[in-house]
Amino acid sequence: MIELVAVGEAVQPRRLNALALELTRIFKVPCQVRAGVVDPAPARDDTRQQYRSTTILDRLRLLNLPNRTRLLGVAAVDLFVPIFTFVFGEAEVDGHCALASTYRLEEERYGLPANEEKLRERLTKEAVHELGHTYGLRHCDDWQCVMASSHSVELVDVKQAEFCEECAAVVREFTRV
Ligand SMILES: [Zn+2]
Ligand SMILES: [Zn+2]
Repeated sequence: MIELVAVGEAVQPRRLNALALELTRIFKVPCQVRAGVVDPAPARDDTRQQYRSTTILDRLRLLNLPNRTRLLGVAAVDLFVPIFTFVFGEAEVDGHCALASTYRLEEERYGLPANEEKLRERLTKEAVHELGHTYGLRHCDDWQCVMASSHSVELVDVKQAEFCEECAAVVREFTRV
């Protein structure tokens, strides 16, 4: 089972619902949207004007989760970890919680017109990638695999939303009931 939760009021329910459908298709497990919103405010760094993703992950970890359930927080704020300028998301490897943000996935950030379809595609890939980490996967050398590491939207765009054979086998092991 995968649960999605909005991190901040700016995340629209229709975005979460659309993502839930995609995740159900890719992971072949039920995926539902949790009621309520996790407030990202405590994670804000005023100097960087960004949000510390690890702090948000810590807050997600406080939510009660049935055993084996994975929780993905979806944010719309600019996330960072101290060693990077920004991150698209973060996850606990082999843990329960993951986080992804639409902020740096939007075409507008790169001076281009908004593109809803592209944003949806990118968010799906980022969500699958971060959830993949919670199933114990690390970065994959296959550049088309969703577990390939990607620090730019260009790299997000060239990979697929799906796992390569090897990564898919690991996920299947975990999601098998
Ligand atoms: Zn990663
Ligand atoms: Zn792979």
